[in-house]
Amino acid sequence: MFRSVPVAPHFLARTTFHASRIPHQPRDLLLHSPEAGYFPAVPELPEVEVLVRHLRPLLQDRTIRAVHVRRAKVLSPASPHAFTQALRGARFCALARRGKYLLFKLRKARRAEPLVLVGHLGMTGRMYLLPAKTPLPRHAAVALNLGQENFVFEDTRYFGRLTLDTCALGKLGPEPLEADFTVERFGKALGRSQQPIKLKLLDQSLLAGVGNIYASEALFRAGIAPTLPARRLTWPQVKRLWRAVRAVLREAIACGSTVPLNYAGTGARDRLFYFGRAPGAPDFYEERLRVYDRAGRPCPACGTAIRRRVQAARSTFYCPRCQRA
Ligand SMILES: [Zn+2]
Repeated sequence: MFRSVPVAPHFLARTTFHASRIPHQPRDLLLHSPEAGYFPAVPELPEVEVLVRHLRPLLQDRTIRAVHVRRAKVLSPASPHAFTQALRGARFCALARRGKYLLFKLRKARRAEPLVLVGHLGMTGRMYLLPAKTPLPRHAAVALNLGQENFVFEDTRYFGRLTLDTCALGKLGPEPLEADFTVERFGKALGRSQQPIKLKLLDQSLLAGVGNIYASEALFRAGIAPTLPARRLTWPQVKRLWRAVRAVLREAIACGSTVPLNYAGTGARDRLFYFGRAPGAPDFYEERLRVYDRAGRPCPACGTAIRRRVQAARSTFYCPRCQRA
């Protein structure tokens, strides 16, 4: 049964440290094992939002004293030297999210304009605070020294970013949980597309932050076949899907906000906490996702076996009976 976990304020107030628990090979790599039947745990809007809420109080008003760049690629196009020059002495003044991006706003003395540092977790990125005296993990790409602690960006598969380049933000569509993402706007954008609706939902210019997991989940909730061309959705289907997208994202954020995080925790099966969940926190996987990565298991609505199909090289999970339309 689903167990709700009360938010423990002391867990949210700071990350707890267990240096000896740092996994040598982060556990989330194991999720890619085909024998286990797992699919890559790629963070989407809810996971990033949970991380932003977790990091915000830990970084607020902290000043960057030194910058260590281990992998210059994540900063591109800035050089490590330019990046270091820009950030050294800057103070964290706000942390926000846009789509799947983390936006760190920093201020520097004698500079009127705030700096924006853009973070993206890619497939396996993690961001956390680590005591400065603890050696950096092997896959640390960047560490920002804040005095007693380092803010670490670690990435084992190298698709993540931590950059001063804000270009990617300009291409993003509306935030699905904000007021400007109206059902009319959504319907209009879908009406212009021949793409299967599942693939269209992944288009970050349509709406920002939805990926493979929540696209599958929202289509299941709305009872819409993933292969239906976007422009063939009826108006009632558009409305159902608009509501379903918002509901699955909101529920995932609410679920993630109840579980204490800890960078040294392992990537648990429920995927929400790929960046570290405190030891002993319960596994929400069974209850949280209804179709994603559940091929062959009964649909929670009708009992038919959930199917997996590949669309544009990505897995879609759906119920062939509930999602016929
Ligand atoms: Zn079903």
